[in-house]
Amino acid sequence: PPFYLGIDLGGTNIKSGVVEDTGRPLSSVSIETEADRGPEVGIENLAKAGRLAVEASGLRWDQISGVGLGSPGTMDLSRGMLLQPPNLPGWNQLPIRDLLAAKLDKPTILQNDANAAAYGEYWAGAGRNTRSLVLFTLGTGVGCGIITEGRIIEGRHSHGGECGHIIVQMENGRRCGCGAYGHLEAYASATALVKRAHDLLSEGSMKSVLREIPPDDLTSRAISEAADAGDPAARRLMKETAFYLAVGTVTLLHTIDPDIVLFGGGMIAAGQGFLEDIRQHVQKMAFPAVAKGTRIDYAELGGDAGFIGAAGCARDAFGR
Ligand code: BGC
Repeated sequence: PPFYLGIDLGGTNIKSGVVEDTGRPLSSVSIETEADRGPEVGIENLAKAGRLAVEASGLRWDQISGVGLGSPGTMDLSRGMLLQPPNLPGWNQLPIRDLLAAKLDKPTILQNDANAAAYGEYWAGAGRNTRSLVLFTLGTGVGCGIITEGRIIEGRHSHGGECGHIIVQMENGRRCGCGAYGHLEAYASATALVKRAHDLLSEGSMKSVLREIPPDDLTSRAISEAADAGDPAARRLMKETAFYLAVGTVTLLHTIDPDIVLFGGGMIAAGQGFLEDIRQHVQKMAFPAVAKGTRIDYAELGGDAGFIGAAGCARDAFGR
Protein backbone atom coordinates (compact mmCIF):
# COMPACT_ATOMS: atom_id res chain seq x y z
CA PRO A 1 0.00 0.00 0.00
CA PRO A 2 1.14 3.58 -0.55
CA PHE A 3 2.51 5.69 2.30
CA TYR A 4 2.76 9.46 2.48
CA LEU A 5 5.01 11.80 4.38
CA GLY A 6 3.32 14.78 6.03
CA ILE A 7 5.25 17.78 7.33
CA ASP A 8 3.70 20.61 9.33
CA LEU A 9 5.73 23.80 9.50
CA GLY A 10 5.08 25.94 12.57
CA GLY A 11 6.71 29.10 13.85
CA THR A 12 8.31 27.15 16.73
CA ASN A 13 8.26 23.46 15.78
CA ILE A 14 8.13 21.27 12.73
CA LYS A 15 6.03 18.14 13.13
CA SER A 16 6.20 15.28 10.70
CA GLY A 17 5.07 11.73 10.26
CA VAL A 18 4.49 8.94 7.82
CA VAL A 19 0.82 8.22 7.24
CA GLU A 20 -0.89 5.14 5.88
CA ASP A 21 -3.47 5.20 3.14
CA THR A 22 -6.13 4.98 5.87
CA GLY A 23 -5.01 8.14 7.65
CA ARG A 24 -3.26 6.30 10.46
CA PRO A 25 0.16 7.75 11.38
CA LEU A 26 3.10 5.35 11.63
CA SER A 27 5.43 7.89 13.19
CA SER A 28 5.30 11.33 14.76
CA VAL A 29 8.38 13.51 15.09
CA SER A 30 8.91 17.08 16.30
CA ILE A 31 11.99 19.26 15.93
CA GLU A 32 12.63 22.97 16.26
CA THR A 33 11.98 25.19 13.25
CA GLU A 34 14.66 27.75 14.11
CA ALA A 35 12.60 30.14 12.00
CA ASP A 36 14.62 33.16 13.06
CA ARG A 37 17.73 31.67 11.45
CA GLY A 38 16.02 32.24 8.12
CA PRO A 39 14.40 30.12 5.44
CA GLU A 40 17.53 28.30 4.33
CA VAL A 41 18.06 26.71 7.75
CA GLY A 42 14.29 26.25 8.04
CA ILE A 43 14.05 24.27 4.82
CA GLU A 44 16.99 22.11 5.84
CA ASN A 45 15.08 21.44 9.08
CA LEU A 46 11.93 20.54 7.13
CA ALA A 47 13.93 17.98 5.17
CA LYS A 48 15.50 16.67 8.36
CA ALA A 49 12.07 16.30 10.01
CA GLY A 50 10.92 14.37 6.94
CA ARG A 51 13.87 12.00 6.98
CA LEU A 52 13.51 11.41 10.74
CA ALA A 53 9.81 10.60 10.32
CA VAL A 54 10.53 8.00 7.66
CA GLU A 55 13.29 6.51 9.80
CA ALA A 56 10.98 6.34 12.81
CA SER A 57 8.25 4.64 10.75
CA GLY A 58 10.51 1.69 9.95
CA LEU A 59 9.79 2.10 6.22
CA ARG A 60 12.31 2.59 3.45
CA TRP A 61 12.57 5.94 1.71
CA ASP A 62 11.46 4.41 -1.61
CA GLN A 63 8.17 3.31 -0.03
CA ILE A 64 7.06 6.95 0.29
CA SER A 65 4.79 7.98 -2.60
CA GLY A 66 4.70 11.70 -1.96
CA VAL A 67 5.14 14.55 0.48
CA GLY A 68 2.58 17.04 1.79
CA LEU A 69 3.80 20.25 3.41
CA GLY A 70 1.51 22.37 5.57
CA SER A 71 2.66 25.92 6.18
CA PRO A 72 1.27 29.12 7.67
CA GLY A 73 -0.03 31.45 4.95
CA THR A 74 -0.35 33.55 2.98
CA MET A 75 0.74 31.54 -0.02
CA ASP A 76 0.22 30.77 -3.67
CA LEU A 77 -0.75 27.12 -3.73
CA SER A 78 -0.41 26.47 -7.44
CA ARG A 79 3.13 27.86 -7.53
CA GLY A 80 4.03 26.37 -4.14
CA MET A 81 5.18 29.78 -2.85
CA LEU A 82 4.97 31.42 0.53
CA LEU A 83 3.90 35.03 0.01
CA GLN A 84 3.78 36.82 3.34
CA PRO A 85 3.30 34.54 6.34
CA PRO A 86 2.67 36.83 9.36
CA ASN A 87 4.20 34.40 11.83
CA LEU A 88 7.32 33.53 9.81
CA PRO A 89 8.91 36.93 9.40
CA GLY A 90 11.50 36.98 6.64
CA TRP A 91 10.05 33.95 4.83
CA ASN A 92 8.40 36.09 2.14
CA GLN A 93 8.19 35.20 -1.56
CA LEU A 94 9.73 31.80 -0.95
CA PRO A 95 9.32 28.90 -3.43
CA ILE A 96 9.15 26.55 -0.46
CA ARG A 97 7.53 23.57 -2.19
CA ASP A 98 10.16 23.22 -4.88
CA LEU A 99 13.05 23.89 -2.50
CA LEU A 100 11.84 21.07 -0.27
CA ALA A 101 11.06 18.76 -3.19
CA ALA A 102 14.63 19.23 -4.43
CA LYS A 103 16.01 18.21 -1.04
CA LEU A 104 13.75 15.19 -0.61
CA ASP A 105 13.51 14.16 -4.26
CA LYS A 106 9.79 13.31 -3.98
CA PRO A 107 6.65 14.80 -5.51
CA THR A 108 5.65 17.49 -3.02
CA ILE A 109 2.49 19.53 -2.53
CA LEU A 110 2.01 22.69 -0.47
CA GLN A 111 -1.11 23.40 1.58
CA ASN A 112 -2.01 25.98 4.22
CA ASP A 113 -1.30 24.52 7.69
CA ALA A 114 -4.83 25.00 9.00
CA ASN A 115 -6.39 23.73 5.76
CA ALA A 116 -4.22 20.65 6.12
CA ALA A 117 -5.22 20.18 9.77
CA ALA A 118 -8.90 20.53 8.82
CA TYR A 119 -8.39 17.91 6.14
CA GLY A 120 -6.70 15.64 8.68
CA GLU A 121 -9.66 15.91 11.06
CA TYR A 122 -12.02 15.29 8.16
CA TRP A 123 -10.09 12.24 6.96
CA ALA A 124 -9.13 10.60 10.23
CA GLY A 125 -10.29 12.68 13.20
CA ALA A 126 -13.35 14.35 14.68
CA GLY A 127 -14.81 15.02 11.23
CA ARG A 128 -14.90 11.40 10.07
CA ASN A 129 -18.36 10.64 8.67
CA THR A 130 -19.16 14.29 7.98
CA ARG A 131 -19.31 16.10 4.64
CA SER A 132 -18.29 19.53 5.81
CA LEU A 133 -16.38 21.07 8.66
CA VAL A 134 -14.65 24.16 9.91
CA LEU A 135 -11.53 23.89 12.06
CA PHE A 136 -9.98 26.76 13.99
CA THR A 137 -6.40 26.16 15.16
CA LEU A 138 -5.34 28.23 18.15
CA GLY A 139 -1.59 28.63 18.30
CA THR A 140 0.88 31.37 17.47
CA GLY A 141 -1.77 32.52 14.99
CA VAL A 142 -5.39 31.60 14.51
CA GLY A 143 -5.63 29.26 11.55
CA CYS A 144 -8.80 28.12 9.88
CA GLY A 145 -9.62 25.41 7.38
CA ILE A 146 -12.95 24.81 5.70
CA ILE A 147 -14.03 21.56 4.06
CA THR A 148 -17.24 21.34 2.07
CA GLU A 149 -18.34 18.24 0.17
CA GLY A 150 -15.02 16.66 1.04
CA ARG A 151 -12.90 19.42 -0.50
CA ILE A 152 -10.77 22.14 1.02
CA ILE A 153 -11.97 25.62 0.10
CA GLU A 154 -8.75 27.07 -1.33
CA GLY A 155 -10.28 30.08 -3.03
CA ARG A 156 -9.23 31.77 -6.24
CA HIS A 157 -5.97 33.14 -4.79
CA SER A 158 -5.22 30.43 -2.20
CA HIS A 159 -6.63 32.55 0.63
CA GLY A 160 -9.87 30.63 1.18
CA GLY A 161 -10.50 29.98 4.86
CA GLU A 162 -8.13 32.68 6.17
CA CYS A 163 -10.70 33.20 8.93
CA GLY A 164 -8.19 34.01 11.63
CA HIS A 165 -8.44 37.42 10.02
CA ILE A 166 -12.20 37.81 10.44
CA ILE A 167 -12.95 41.12 12.13
CA VAL A 168 -14.20 40.68 15.66
CA GLN A 169 -13.59 44.22 16.95
CA MET A 170 -14.63 47.24 14.94
CA GLU A 171 -13.27 50.10 17.01
CA ASN A 172 -9.76 50.43 18.41
CA GLY A 173 -9.02 46.88 17.42
CA ARG A 174 -5.75 45.26 18.38
CA ARG A 175 -3.09 45.02 15.71
CA CYS A 176 -2.87 41.63 14.03
CA GLY A 177 0.36 39.96 12.92
CA CYS A 178 -0.77 40.65 9.33
CA GLY A 179 -0.69 44.41 9.98
CA ALA A 180 -4.43 45.07 10.01
CA TYR A 181 -6.58 45.69 13.10
CA GLY A 182 -9.35 43.96 15.03
CA HIS A 183 -8.81 40.48 13.61
CA LEU A 184 -9.72 37.30 15.49
CA GLU A 185 -6.04 36.28 15.58
CA ALA A 186 -5.19 39.45 17.49
CA TYR A 187 -7.59 38.35 20.26
CA ALA A 188 -7.80 34.58 20.35
CA SER A 189 -4.40 33.15 19.43
CA ALA A 190 -2.27 31.79 22.24
CA THR A 191 0.07 34.73 21.70
CA ALA A 192 -2.78 37.23 21.83
CA LEU A 193 -4.14 35.69 25.02
CA VAL A 194 -0.78 36.25 26.71
CA LYS A 195 -0.67 39.85 25.46
CA ARG A 196 -4.18 40.51 26.71
CA ALA A 197 -3.16 39.03 30.07
CA HIS A 198 -0.20 41.41 30.35
CA ASP A 199 -2.48 44.35 29.54
CA LEU A 200 -5.13 43.31 32.03
CA LEU A 201 -2.59 42.83 34.82
CA SER A 202 -0.84 46.12 34.17
CA GLU A 203 -4.08 48.10 33.84
CA GLY A 204 -5.78 47.26 37.05
CA SER A 205 -5.36 46.02 40.52
CA MET A 206 -7.25 42.80 39.91
CA LYS A 207 -5.94 40.05 42.16
CA SER A 208 -4.46 37.16 40.26
CA VAL A 209 -2.08 34.24 40.69
CA LEU A 210 -0.77 35.22 37.25
CA ARG A 211 1.09 38.09 38.94
CA GLU A 212 3.32 35.53 40.61
CA ILE A 213 4.60 34.29 37.24
CA PRO A 214 7.60 36.22 35.82
CA PRO A 215 6.16 38.12 32.81
CA ASP A 216 8.39 36.32 30.29
CA ASP A 217 7.22 32.93 31.53
CA LEU A 218 3.50 33.64 31.22
CA THR A 219 1.94 31.17 28.77
CA SER A 220 -1.54 30.51 27.44
CA ARG A 221 -1.48 27.20 29.28
CA ALA A 222 -0.73 28.90 32.60
CA ILE A 223 -3.66 31.24 31.96
CA SER A 224 -6.11 28.46 31.14
CA GLU A 225 -4.97 26.44 34.14
CA ALA A 226 -5.38 29.44 36.42
CA ALA A 227 -8.86 29.92 34.98
CA ASP A 228 -9.76 26.30 35.73
CA ALA A 229 -8.52 26.84 39.29
CA GLY A 230 -10.91 29.80 39.63
CA ASP A 231 -8.56 32.76 39.26
CA PRO A 232 -10.80 35.75 38.42
CA ALA A 233 -8.45 37.53 35.99
CA ALA A 234 -7.63 34.32 34.12
CA ARG A 235 -11.32 33.44 34.01
CA ARG A 236 -12.17 36.77 32.50
CA LEU A 237 -9.47 36.39 29.86
CA MET A 238 -10.66 32.91 28.89
CA LYS A 239 -14.30 34.02 28.79
CA GLU A 240 -13.40 36.88 26.48
CA THR A 241 -11.42 34.51 24.27
CA ALA A 242 -14.43 32.22 24.05
CA PHE A 243 -16.58 35.19 23.08
CA TYR A 244 -14.28 36.24 20.23
CA LEU A 245 -14.09 32.67 18.93
CA ALA A 246 -17.86 32.51 19.04
CA VAL A 247 -18.07 35.68 16.92
CA GLY A 248 -15.87 34.02 14.31
CA THR A 249 -17.84 30.79 14.53
CA VAL A 250 -21.18 32.52 14.05
CA THR A 251 -19.92 34.20 10.90
CA LEU A 252 -18.89 30.83 9.48
CA LEU A 253 -22.10 29.09 10.51
CA HIS A 254 -24.06 31.60 8.49
CA THR A 255 -21.68 31.34 5.54
CA ILE A 256 -20.98 27.62 5.29
CA ASP A 257 -23.57 25.79 7.41
CA PRO A 258 -21.13 22.96 8.18
CA ASP A 259 -21.81 19.66 9.95
CA ILE A 260 -19.31 20.53 12.64
CA VAL A 261 -17.05 23.33 13.91
CA LEU A 262 -13.85 22.18 15.62
CA PHE A 263 -11.20 23.86 17.75
CA GLY A 264 -7.65 22.55 17.78
CA GLY A 265 -4.16 23.63 18.74
CA GLY A 266 -2.41 23.94 22.07
CA MET A 267 -5.09 26.05 23.71
CA ILE A 268 -7.66 23.29 23.69
CA ALA A 269 -6.03 22.10 26.88
CA ALA A 270 -8.46 24.69 28.24
CA GLY A 271 -11.06 22.05 28.99
CA GLN A 272 -14.80 21.61 28.63
CA GLY A 273 -15.78 24.86 30.34
CA PHE A 274 -14.14 26.89 27.58
CA LEU A 275 -15.94 24.91 24.88
CA GLU A 276 -19.22 25.31 26.72
CA ASP A 277 -18.69 29.08 26.84
CA ILE A 278 -18.15 29.16 23.08
CA ARG A 279 -21.30 27.12 22.51
CA GLN A 280 -23.40 29.40 24.71
CA HIS A 281 -22.20 32.57 22.98
CA VAL A 282 -22.90 30.98 19.61
CA GLN A 283 -26.44 30.09 20.67
CA LYS A 284 -27.01 33.69 21.75
CA MET A 285 -25.56 35.37 18.67
CA ALA A 286 -26.54 33.15 15.73
CA PHE A 287 -29.74 32.93 13.76
CA PRO A 288 -31.43 30.33 16.00
CA ALA A 289 -32.30 27.88 13.23
CA VAL A 290 -28.72 27.96 11.99
CA ALA A 291 -27.04 27.46 15.36
CA LYS A 292 -29.28 24.55 16.28
CA GLY A 293 -27.97 21.93 13.88
CA THR A 294 -24.23 22.39 14.17
CA ARG A 295 -21.93 20.44 16.48
CA ILE A 296 -19.19 22.49 18.14
CA ASP A 297 -16.35 20.43 19.55
CA TYR A 298 -12.66 19.99 20.13
CA ALA A 299 -10.55 18.43 17.40
CA GLU A 300 -9.25 14.90 17.97
CA LEU A 301 -5.85 14.54 16.38
CA GLY A 302 -4.04 17.06 18.56
CA GLY A 303 -0.66 18.20 17.27
CA ASP A 304 -0.66 15.46 14.61
CA ALA A 305 -3.60 16.89 12.64
CA GLY A 306 -1.41 19.11 10.46
CA PHE A 307 0.99 16.46 9.18
CA ILE A 308 -1.76 13.83 8.87
CA GLY A 309 -3.81 16.21 6.74
CA ALA A 310 -0.77 17.30 4.72
CA ALA A 311 -0.10 13.62 3.99
CA GLY A 312 -3.76 13.31 2.97
CA CYS A 313 -3.28 16.16 0.51
CA ALA A 314 -0.27 14.32 -0.96
CA ARG A 315 -2.43 11.21 -1.26
CA ASP A 316 -5.07 13.18 -3.18
CA ALA A 317 -2.48 14.77 -5.42
CA PHE A 318 -0.19 11.83 -6.17
CA GLY A 319 -1.94 8.71 -4.94
CA ARG A 320 -4.81 7.77 -7.14
C1 BGC B 1 -2.09 32.79 8.86
C2 BGC B 1 -2.74 31.51 8.40
C3 BGC B 1 -2.31 30.34 9.27
C4 BGC B 1 -2.47 30.67 10.73
C5 BGC B 1 -1.97 29.56 11.63
C6 BGC B 1 -2.33 32.97 10.33
O1 BGC B 1 -1.68 34.12 10.76
O2 BGC B 1 -2.62 33.89 8.16
O3 BGC B 1 -2.43 31.24 7.06
O4 BGC B 1 -3.08 29.22 8.93
O5 BGC B 1 -1.83 31.86 11.06
O6 BGC B 1 -0.63 29.29 11.38
